[in-house]
Amino acid sequence: MEIMFNSTRDRSIRLTASQAILKGLSDDGGLFVPESLPHFDRSMEEFAKMDYRELAYEIMKLIFTDFTEEELKSCIALAYDEKFDDDRKAVLHTIGNTSYLELFHGPTIAFKDMALSILPHLMVTSARKNGVKNKIIILTATSGDTGKAALAGFSDVEGTGIAVFYPKGGVSKVQELQMVTQKGSNVKVIGIEGNFDQAQTGVKEIFSDKEFESKARERGCQFSSANSINIGRLVPQIVYYVYAYATLLSKGEIKDGEKINIVVPTGNFGNILAAYYAKQMGLPVAKLICASNENKVLYDFFGNGVYDKAHRQFKLTSSPSMDILISSNLERLIYHIAGNDDKKTAELMKKLREEGVYEITDDMRANLKDFFGGFASEEETFAEIRTVYEKSDYITDTHTAVAGAVYRKYVEKTGDTDTKTVIASTASPYKFVKSVMAAIDKKYESTDDFELFDELEKLSGVKIPKAIAEIRDAKVLHDIVCKPEDMKKEVESML
Ligand SMILES: *Cc1c(COP(=O)(O)O)cnc(C)c1O
Repeated sequence: MEIMFNSTRDRSIRLTASQAILKGLSDDGGLFVPESLPHFDRSMEEFAKMDYRELAYEIMKLIFTDFTEEELKSCIALAYDEKFDDDRKAVLHTIGNTSYLELFHGPTIAFKDMALSILPHLMVTSARKNGVKNKIIILTATSGDTGKAALAGFSDVEGTGIAVFYPKGGVSKVQELQMVTQKGSNVKVIGIEGNFDQAQTGVKEIFSDKEFESKARERGCQFSSANSINIGRLVPQIVYYVYAYATLLSKGEIKDGEKINIVVPTGNFGNILAAYYAKQMGLPVAKLICASNENKVLYDFFGNGVYDKAHRQFKLTSSPSMDILISSNLERLIYHIAGNDDKKTAELMKKLREEGVYEITDDMRANLKDFFGGFASEEETFAEIRTVYEKSDYITDTHTAVAGAVYRKYVEKTGDTDTKTVIASTASPYKFVKSVMAAIDKKYESTDDFELFDELEKLSGVKIPKAIAEIRDAKVLHDIVCKPEDMKKEVESML
């Protein structure tokens, strides 16, 4: 069955997978969604016998139906190779009923590598399939982790260029160093005087600027996005939830068909949406637990059906990759819970744009029963890191700790202690070393990041990853800082 993709705001805009990947965002501002989601055509037992690459192919072929077997397999092989520091690509660390799904074994030690290592190859393949000769310029706003993962993925990939915008002062020291030391002749890294939402809004504005687009085309370029709004990022993320289930099954932790909970530390709603899609495709999932930090716009949304970014203060937290008030991918969920209603979605998104708030209908709310929303304060997040370390000798990063703390609250509230639970572990503790070490012991608060790496290695017994060793003496190659309104100018100089 051929799967087409339509805009969440206008179902008459229909593209193939490769066209949707190339385009990123629809012209009407909507996001591309599959018109229907296929069901898995193999059993979990069969999946359990496959390695990550084989599984990735089995899942992606169901949705990216206009790619040939050879094309998909080649993209997968180029993406999931020895850039990962563990052959399994995703690693399950089980403590009792809880399994941490470590998604940080890729080149930039955060989960975004799982999708951004394959996106450049999907994109170049999509360009070739559609006879596109233009250079593809990737524009990306980042709250920290996307930026580096996209830079690493696209660096020196022929026929592409990439500009990454990050909130200056709004990312961790390691995140910033990882980005500003990025090599490659086709990369540009720009700090903006503003927060992530402003960076994201700026990028969206460039995408919807028709005049600017024709200027780019005159110069043999066209824009695309590596943000999690690109369907080419979303679909590869379905794979590791199936992988987690299959691994639990082969280890005898669960019986075939047994439902599991999945907890996801959430920002832009991409990662958890992939888990939702996995469930729609047949993964036995009980609850999808959406964990927010103090920017708890999603927690409130799941509580009362009102999405309100207007009446709240944006907060900088120790989990910066979740410091987001506009969760872009939520638009896809809105579309689905409205019964794939493009008019309704367009109406609500217009409200969000103009008033900063919208409310969903009771019928739509009824379709949210798969979800449980929770949030963790900074204190609860730090306590979670400390508790898990003290009890289990395992050190998680701050984002994963938000998920862990929310899961704890979920269990308290529901009494659901039996359901096996997978916590998406989205970053290596090395990436947020300062907050992690201070959470374990306040004495580390004033220690330099670089000294803390050695301390963390001692405490955790986990070797310093290559990604960290590399930035220790790398040269800063990018030092541009601009105002949000000057982002276009910075892009223009790349054309
Ligand atoms: C991006 C990111 C998140 C949030 O993921 P979304 O898909 O945006 O919800 C959580 N943790 C880490 C470490 C991240 O990099």
